[in-house]
Amino acid sequence: MRPPVLPLWALLALALGTLALLTGTFRPPAGSPGRLGSIPAGVARSPLGSTSPSEAPVADATHGATEPPGAPGEAGDVGGAPAPPYQAQSPLREPGLVPPLAPVRVPRPVVPPGPRRIGIQAGHWQTEQVPDELRRLEHATGASGGGVMEGQVNLDVARRVAAILRSHGHDVDVLPTTVPPSYLADVFLSLHADGSADPGMRGYKAAHGSRRGPYEGQLVQAVIEEYGRATGLPVDPVVSRNMRGYYAFSWSRFKSSVAPHTPAAILEMGFLSNAADRRLLVGDPDGVATGVANGVLRFLEEVPAGAPFAEDIVVPPFIPFRPAPSSP
Ligand SMILES: [Zn+2]
Repeated sequence: MRPPVLPLWALLALALGTLALLTGTFRPPAGSPGRLGSIPAGVARSPLGSTSPSEAPVADATHGATEPPGAPGEAGDVGGAPAPPYQAQSPLREPGLVPPLAPVRVPRPVVPPGPRRIGIQAGHWQTEQVPDELRRLEHATGASGGGVMEGQVNLDVARRVAAILRSHGHDVDVLPTTVPPSYLADVFLSLHADGSADPGMRGYKAAHGSRRGPYEGQLVQAVIEEYGRATGLPVDPVVSRNMRGYYAFSWSRFKSSVAPHTPAAILEMGFLSNAADRRLLVGDPDGVATGVANGVLRFLEEVPAGAPFAEDIVVPPFIPFRPAPSSP
């Protein structure tokens, strides 16, 4: 059997990638290996590439729900085409500029002095407005339980969280399903609620994408500890691949995602299918929002302003997500 022959472009890409690595073009800046060095150069991504059509957020795909009542136009809500003042300098969206499969250097972004920026995503909000790359989420309106729809809970809590964070002087965007491309912020946190056929399943959990740095780890830890402290909910230890592969921080696959410099995580706030969890999520949304906000505020206290943006980072190239052809 004839061995497979690499096409010319692949050989060229490999050569360029190897040359760049040898010459240090893609080497992270000195003194920062621990912080940003957890993305192995040249690795084409396994965890981030795990988002496939069959891996749409579990609870979301299995529970029908009505569309949450969006309220575009509310101050600070981002209902479509926002222009964040932060400017991400990401070449990720122009894959033609880099050889395929070669790592990409993302320059440190320019962030103006002033209030810190926080993106709170209300999971499933305006999900009918997704672009083509997220078409599989068009009807993923989230979990439900006891007549309560996840999208409504997410949006309600997100707006309360935003109000608390603004009262601390921060700039806050309440984001819909479609994240502005290369969204850059000091924190991005996506809010969701779970659902299960087992009404005994309960608790909350948080996760980040399987990528870099201590920033995401710190963010998840702060959110988990402060959310638990404020709500008294138990932790659900089962973090799914769907959470780690969440599209909104899979910036190597989706344009509608945060910039690589943005510390990002997802929080499942509890199970709507569990009576005790639902009682809290619906009956004490201010308590829930306080727990979320406390986690974000603690993270911002722990991480000095600008620290996540201080250096260039080296990431895998952008490879657009291609849904598998649907079977007949
Ligand atoms: Zn959800």
